[in-house]
Amino acid sequence: MVNKDAYIRLRDELLPHGVTLVAVSKTRPAEEIMELYNLGHRDFGENYVQELCAKAAELPPDIRWHYIGHLQTNKVKLIVPFVQLIHGVDSLKLLKEIDKQAARTGRTVDCLLQVFIAQEETKFGLDEKELEELWKTLETAPLPHICVRGLMGMASFTEDPGTVRSEFSRLRAIFQKYPFSGAEPGILSMGMSNDYRVAVEEGSTLVRVGSLLFGAREKKG
Ligand SMILES: *Cc1c(COP(=O)(O)O)cnc(C)c1O
Repeated sequence: MVNKDAYIRLRDELLPHGVTLVAVSKTRPAEEIMELYNLGHRDFGENYVQELCAKAAELPPDIRWHYIGHLQTNKVKLIVPFVQLIHGVDSLKLLKEIDKQAARTGRTVDCLLQVFIAQEETKFGLDEKELEELWKTLETAPLPHICVRGLMGMASFTEDPGTVRSEFSRLRAIFQKYPFSGAEPGILSMGMSNDYRVAVEEGSTLVRVGSLLFGAREKKG
């Protein structure tokens, strides 16, 4: 069930900071997305390709779909024709495939590079050194159908707010080192339901919030 009050509170809280709210609708039915859509919301995040494609086909075309999951190379072509922003790109191989598919559809696709900031082993993303190398490669051999707009990261799953804050703060420092392309300022995608406040305080420009708006998800996702 959509918590409309939570949505309006969150929207009004983020507005003065100019922070974009991506409503993470993974595992939630189309009707719930429409409830937020009817309140004027347009940015939605999904992390399963099949689910994203099914929803995009059925829901209004002015929804801006954010892909926030770990994207497999063989699925790139399914989302490239319509996706607004791909958040979790962490390899040159993936960038090249997005560029190739974007060229075929005549689009330029906005991407964020995912940086590993958490303590857990399981999180995807580039470390600082890998990011630096990838950036250099892109400078020498640009991919014309890709626009790298900024960075995305996830903090550790921990109750310790100090750890989360220092991870977000580190990501912001890394973010500020790079001149991201695009007409608008760069995008720093960090913060979820339980840490978005700290993320905004540490300079996030986009938060990805699911359970706060839609309630807790069942196991998947
Ligand atoms: C599921 C997910 C979110 C949203 O998480 P909540 O805790 O429900 O707000 C944000 N980012 C990514 C990458 C996710 O997979």
